[in-house]
Amino acid sequence: MKPEFESIPKLGFGCMRLPLLDATDQTSIDVEQFKQMVDAFMEAGGTYFDTAFVYHEGASEKALKEALVQRYPRDAFTVATKCLAWAIDSKEEAQSNLTTSLERMGLDYVDFYLLHNVGGGRTAKFDEYGMWDFVKQKQEEGLIKNWGFSMHADADTLDALLTAHPDADFVQLQVNYLDWDDPVVQARACMDVAARHGVPVVIMEPARGGRLAELPESVAAPLVAADPDAPLVSWAYRFCMNLPNVLTVLSGMSTLEQARENAALLRESRPFSPDEQRALDEAVEVLRGLANIPCTNCRYCVKDCPQGVVIPEILALMNLELMTKNRDFVKGLYSWQAAPGPASKCIACGACEAMCPQSINIIQHLEEAAEHFE
Ligand code: SF4
Ligand code: SF4
Repeated sequence: MKPEFESIPKLGFGCMRLPLLDATDQTSIDVEQFKQMVDAFMEAGGTYFDTAFVYHEGASEKALKEALVQRYPRDAFTVATKCLAWAIDSKEEAQSNLTTSLERMGLDYVDFYLLHNVGGGRTAKFDEYGMWDFVKQKQEEGLIKNWGFSMHADADTLDALLTAHPDADFVQLQVNYLDWDDPVVQARACMDVAARHGVPVVIMEPARGGRLAELPESVAAPLVAADPDAPLVSWAYRFCMNLPNVLTVLSGMSTLEQARENAALLRESRPFSPDEQRALDEAVEVLRGLANIPCTNCRYCVKDCPQGVVIPEILALMNLELMTKNRDFVKGLYSWQAAPGPASKCIACGACEAMCPQSINIIQHLEEAAEHFE
């Protein structure tokens, strides 16, 4: 890990769900509250802020200028922002994102620049637009200090990407205690791949989009018994903050209260004691027990599907719904994770079920998925 990365505190401020003045308008960021959140975070020693070209339709980057850049010396913070080339129509527009982001934030350079959500069919757009060479060129020009990419794909994909792009300064991955041994997300295996390539990891979704902050009572019980005063979400952050090869862990903050809770974690994020680790293991076991589709992500079913249905991804989302009991949250994930082959494309030919070593009733689950999420 670069020496300058070592000094970055292990909790970063995610600016994708900032407080709003008008809940129906994503651009109406409550900048005054955001300033107080920034102050609480900075006062506790925080320095890393994460935004993106598209967060709050561009208003997140602008609010960062007001709440952070114009109020603190440049060497007191680092900023990360991102380009979603796969959602952009032309190379020129994708490459112009960097200039726009810098202008919006009032910065001469950005500390961390990410090619965002690489993987699957999206990688081709980054290739087509020459984004890999672009970030290296801008790094040479001094506009980008460090470049990397984020992805939600599996460990083999990460391995291939890091092999193809060994100059990446960091990667951003979805890691949390629920996905640690998940056969689809493969968080543990992805962390191992990053470590093997010597590339540090920024962790995203440490609380699974907030779901690990609102656990069913049966899951929360061992955690509450082990530490009645700790917010449930603190277990999720501590799990990630104490993993090796972590650059920082992003926490999307929406309220001053959350910023203050995180400030407390920044001041004291000790590793789990043996008793705490046992309590977390117990909670994870209960949580996993709530899922009941035994898909192992072997992907035998996908090969012969004439409709290109993304079966394992959809079954993983069905399990996530069972675990979190939050259909709306999973529906949001489904809208893009299942987009290449949604459940409703299934024509019930049965080819997948014939291949499934787990004898899963795939067709029936796909019907349910279409009903729940489409
Ligand atoms: S049953 Fe549906 S999901 Fe399975 S192979 Fe046929 S079309 Fe694909
Ligand atoms: S074949 Fe069965 S176990 Fe394997 S990925 Fe498909 S549904 Fe899951």
